[in-house]
Amino acid sequence: MSNIVKSQSTSAVMNTYGRFPITLVKGKASNVWDDNGQKFLDYTSGIATCNLGHVPDNVHHKVKGQLDTLWHCSNLYDIPPQQELATALTDNSCFDQVFFCNSGAEANEAAIKIAKKYASDSGNVERTEIVTFTNSFHGRTGTTMAATGQKKIHQGFTPLTPGFRYLPLNDFDALTQINDGKTTAVLLELVQGEGGVHPAGLAWVSELAALCKKEDILLILDEIQTGIGRTGTLFAYEQFGIEPDVITSAKALASGLPVGAMLAKEEVAKSFQPGSHGSTFGGNPLVMSAGLATMEAILNEDILHEVREKAEWLRGKLEELKQEFSSIEEIRGLGLLIGIQMTDEVKSWISAFREKEILVLAAGSNVLRILPPLTTPKAELEHFIQSFKQLLMEKEGRVSS
Ligand SMILES: *Cc1c(COP(=O)(O)O)cnc(C)c1O
Repeated sequence: MSNIVKSQSTSAVMNTYGRFPITLVKGKASNVWDDNGQKFLDYTSGIATCNLGHVPDNVHHKVKGQLDTLWHCSNLYDIPPQQELATALTDNSCFDQVFFCNSGAEANEAAIKIAKKYASDSGNVERTEIVTFTNSFHGRTGTTMAATGQKKIHQGFTPLTPGFRYLPLNDFDALTQINDGKTTAVLLELVQGEGGVHPAGLAWVSELAALCKKEDILLILDEIQTGIGRTGTLFAYEQFGIEPDVITSAKALASGLPVGAMLAKEEVAKSFQPGSHGSTFGGNPLVMSAGLATMEAILNEDILHEVREKAEWLRGKLEELKQEFSSIEEIRGLGLLIGIQMTDEVKSWISAFREKEILVLAAGSNVLRILPPLTTPKAELEHFIQSFKQLLMEKEGRVSS
């Protein structure tokens, strides 16, 4: 080894993330602890992943049971916890079948593949294109990066996977451009998460859904960030009065273990047959047991009702702060996926929150993204609002009352 020349970089891990200067080593419920024992309120939920908080007891219990039994078995055999999670998902949605994988990007890859296969199976061989939206985010693989409507994510990675067109979100006129004879599907986030917390409008979504139905274009929703209770229903589409053909889920589905899922209605699902698609780890028993326990908690413990209540309270308090402080420009979001558009860059706000032992995220340069665990008690939400108010007073040079 001694004659191998090493680079001078400080870490053996590739430099793909702008990391915050703290090291987290433990988590429980809404809290995380760093390597010095300092405790933080985690209002990032591991980027909408730990919706039940960190290390939730029922998930822990179920995974531990599975850990003693069987970790992995190939998809060439029936996997009972996979069947059970698929049933839990289809029993509680408008979909009939589920494909499991390991991440959000992979779930979107599966959705993109099935849309193309559906067009091919329907004899519409000329329909190879998918419409997505400006400022969307669909993942980092070659194809999901191309599906993402953000130039900064494409930069340096040309040639991109062909077949994607980007239209402006919430633009009624743009709907006329969806069907150009080559479109097989529309891929949409009901609330753009990474792209700045921009919700799609109710009327626009229902017109889009009607158009897709009329033109036999598949409506695929990327519910990777909005799903698993985040917006106050199991999936956000339930609040829009529509039935999409396909949705993708990931992030919170297994409470922080790596998972992805693509859910489809029967008519589309049947386009996948043995040999069409696959994954070594997808639907792995250990991760599926975490998913099952997560679904049980979300559906049985009145969590969704509480999310809607907490979200309404938090939204009201944030609107009050907006009235009082000029640093806040706009409050957006749905349920407990909240974006606070500030008048300046949010980097310094994120550091200031960290000084107050609260972790929050950005979504673009001027938007603070707040993702509390769905289980956060009201007292923590009050603490968050008090802390934000103090920061706003300090920033705007006011004396604490
Ligand atoms: C996080 C996210 C993805 C990508 O998920 P990965 O698990 O990182 O591949 C895709 N779409 C949306 C809306 C997301 O929030």
